[in-house]
Amino acid sequence: MHDETRVTTLGRDPHRHHGIVNPPVYHASTILYPTLDALEAPRTPDGYYYGRYGTPTTRALTDAVAALEGAAAGFAVSSGKNAITTVLMGLTQAGDHVLVADNSYQPTRDTAGRVMARFGVEVTFYDPTIGAGITGLMRPNTRLVFVESPGSLTFEVQDVPAIAEAAHAGGALVVMDNTWASPLFCKPFSLGVDVSVQAATKYVGGHSDLMMGLITCTAELEPRIRAAYAEFGGAPGGEDCYLALRGLRTLATRLERHQRSALRVAEWLAGRREVARVFYPALPDDPGHALWRRDFSGASGLFGFLLQPVERPGLAAMLDHLELFGMGYSWGGYESLLIPTNPAPLRTATDWPHEGRMMRIHVGLESPDDLIADLEAGLARLRAAGG
Ligand SMILES: *Cc1c(COP(=O)(O)O)cnc(C)c1O
Repeated sequence: MHDETRVTTLGRDPHRHHGIVNPPVYHASTILYPTLDALEAPRTPDGYYYGRYGTPTTRALTDAVAALEGAAAGFAVSSGKNAITTVLMGLTQAGDHVLVADNSYQPTRDTAGRVMARFGVEVTFYDPTIGAGITGLMRPNTRLVFVESPGSLTFEVQDVPAIAEAAHAGGALVVMDNTWASPLFCKPFSLGVDVSVQAATKYVGGHSDLMMGLITCTAELEPRIRAAYAEFGGAPGGEDCYLALRGLRTLATRLERHQRSALRVAEWLAGRREVARVFYPALPDDPGHALWRRDFSGASGLFGFLLQPVERPGLAAMLDHLELFGMGYSWGGYESLLIPTNPAPLRTATDWPHEGRMMRIHVGLESPDDLIADLEAGLARLRAAGG
């Protein structure tokens, strides 16, 4: 069956719940055992033991996401950052070396470069476009390679299959941040990834009202990820699992619309003289376009563009009076967002060579005509303020 069908059917079984369409929300800390035998029996992955290890509500969500992404198992945690920390710390120990893409989400860099470094894990950031060249950075103690494709600030597409092949040849695991594409537009396990993490806060939630992280993995990694999940204790609450599951039902429909509108807005921006360059892999002249076409089945609504060099008053004139684009971190909700970003200081392995003001835009579910009109008025204010 197609993904757009599966998002409506996975993780629910109405006739186990009086015919009610959606699964109930379990709120649980204590879970009772009926007998001493039951209390002392060995635990199995599908049982329920204590609230932190999940309830049927958690399981409905994680089973659905694992199935969509093509994983053997899934785990829900209380934020995307928690998913990243759980996996990075759970799969490494003192003396290990890890490779992290230089375009990774800043809090990922922080987990690797600050937290793991304190625990004796060596971290090297690498050029995200390195591909099979990653072999040259592998050391005997390299245990993990982290990829984020496309990078959620600068949108380089990584050659994940080539990186995975090189990593595996050197005995390292590959972890991918799949937030941008969501489980619908990228299937990380078919690219050779061992563990996928994502901020369900973004597209899965879809309504800017949820913090949630998801981890999915291969059968081989399941025991280690399950152990890390238990050790780090980042379990989300039942209501949040319910919201994520509810977001999932419309994910295919929303993403299709995000993609269509984002492509229109990106093409419009590319034709503007105030815009030096657009960074969106779905555009045919984007450097990552060929890899994106090979490895992804769609593009979401988040991309970057570079304004010609602009003074702060011009930028403020543009941003302060937008009607539809909000200024705020995060993305993946139904509403549009626009913020200035500053990639250069976030890099250590590669230079950010572009002159001008980098912007990150999230194209929401509004009419693209209205969004373009809002941007057009904003660019007119920028020019009127003297560029
Ligand atoms: C937002 C984000 C995260 C972290 O998710 P939170 O739920 O905000 O902790 C991780 N990776 C990427 C690419 C993100 O955009």
